[in-house]
Amino acid sequence: MAFKTDIEIAREANKKPIQEIGAKLGIDSDHLLPYGHDKAKVSQEFINSVKGNAKGKLILVTAINPTPAGEGKTTTTVGLGDGLNRIGKKAAICIREASLGPNFGMKGGAAGGGKAQVVPMEDMNLHFTGDFHAITAAHNLLSAMIDNHIYWGNELEIDERRVSWRRVMDMNDRALRDTVTSLGGVANGFPRQTGFDITVASEVMAILCLATDLNDLEKRLGDMIVAYRRDKSPIYCRDIKADGAMTVLLKDAMQPNLVQTLENNPAFVHGGPFANIAHGCNSVIATTTALNIADYVVTEAGFGADLGAEKFMNIKCRKAGLSPDAVVLVATVRAMKMNGGVAKADLGEENVEAVKEGCANLGRHIGNLKQFGVPVVVAINHFVTDTDAEIQAVKDYVETQGSEAVLSRHWELGSEGSEDLARKVAEIADSGASQFAPLYRDDLGLFEKIERVATAIYRADEVLADAKIRNQLKEWEEAGYGNLPVCMAKTQYSFTTDPNRRGAPTGHSVPVREVRLSAGAGFIVVICGEIMTMPGLPRVPASENIRLNEEGLIEGLF
Ligand code: ADP
Ligand code: MG
Repeated sequence: MAFKTDIEIAREANKKPIQEIGAKLGIDSDHLLPYGHDKAKVSQEFINSVKGNAKGKLILVTAINPTPAGEGKTTTTVGLGDGLNRIGKKAAICIREASLGPNFGMKGGAAGGGKAQVVPMEDMNLHFTGDFHAITAAHNLLSAMIDNHIYWGNELEIDERRVSWRRVMDMNDRALRDTVTSLGGVANGFPRQTGFDITVASEVMAILCLATDLNDLEKRLGDMIVAYRRDKSPIYCRDIKADGAMTVLLKDAMQPNLVQTLENNPAFVHGGPFANIAHGCNSVIATTTALNIADYVVTEAGFGADLGAEKFMNIKCRKAGLSPDAVVLVATVRAMKMNGGVAKADLGEENVEAVKEGCANLGRHIGNLKQFGVPVVVAINHFVTDTDAEIQAVKDYVETQGSEAVLSRHWELGSEGSEDLARKVAEIADSGASQFAPLYRDDLGLFEKIERVATAIYRADEVLADAKIRNQLKEWEEAGYGNLPVCMAKTQYSFTTDPNRRGAPTGHSVPVREVRLSAGAGFIVVICGEIMTMPGLPRVPASENIRLNEEGLIEGLF
């Protein structure tokens, strides 16, 4: 049977005017700021007005370690949201916005897939409501003001060799990773080496996603460290006096975007920080607002549960005072097979033994998530090629881990296929069984926090770090940053720092290469292994095949 592509399905959607979608959550049309007919921002006034409301249940969708076989977290998030609505629950979805870079690099969007998508998917994957452009502009305004400050006499005594604030662009462009600026003579300033990161790696993005309101946003922007003096004392964004103007540029971007699923259910799409050097989930303001007006909120964290869910719990929930009621761990038969050693080309053939072998990865994630005190249900995101025996093997295995696996066919069937999952999730969320607590306390030492994550989640034996790194952490503790959580940046493909070690490896250590202070976002970034903050394009970028057809429709996006 031939299936339609994501974009073909999305184009056939029977979208409702965005006011009707807002009405489902009690958002009056006065409080919806429309961007066209099918997208709107929610007014700050409305957000403030619902702050005292009773809170809905929070459901996190996460996954096993990603493999090239694809897990479908967003697809499952959307499918589950639709499923909950189908069984009569008032549910909203909260996901991240898409970055332009990956869209033009590798194929694959951020709006879900099959019959479980958010629309308008083309807009969502392109400029959407301009939030990322605003973040890029705010970030680069600060960059310009730093160089301008140096140019006009450098009253703050910035050490030009120690400007840590770079520039950003929402594009994959490896040519800009390392650059020299201010070439061309005296009138152009002082040449210095710097570079570009992709917009989603900007600290401004992380801040927008963690800030509770515009005042908090401005304060956090001011707190960012942008450079150091010769004596190594920090210079803050506030010293450059950029925080006010940056807040002005970000004022609209701070308001969450409302769109709809293919089944006309409400979805908030807001913010999109990287899941390695930042925390990888949609904005706090969107999630808390959704919880104030919906009975169930389904949200997604980036990468596998070792990175995404860990940060969702230890950073986002801790900071925003959120408490998840259930976790949905997405697994696929295909990914189990790959974890069990099957090559991508051979995934089409039934291989129950490989499925069983690969389940170790799933099992470890289940155990890890339970450490946060939140009940876990496994969603088997059904692919039409899965066989009954393979599905049964996953279910049997999950039972031995003290959890339950529910088959979900939302990709193929929409909410009709996710009803069972929705019932199970609602039952767990309603049971009040969750006793959420982050993995470590605020007052634990910074190095001990790293060790805690490495041993409890990655199941490593030890953390390796030079004296230089340990001393740096001590200095930050003395400077008052010791209470911050750690934001671990490592490969998403493995529990270890080696992307090739699939399954559930043991006996490994976690080498820390570098630590960075994101003082505005409020976390310490811990870099373990090579982490790219400006991706490159592949040999044949998706952009080669993207064009407008005779009817003016976008071809080749997905
Ligand atoms: P993630 O959020 O985990 O990165 P997505 O939900 O964005 O993954 O899905 C990645 C891709 O896989 C999408 O193009 C989607 O259409 C496809 N996909 C997801 N689930 C299925 C499925 N059950 N069958 C076929 N394709 C799927
Ligand atoms: Mg996703």
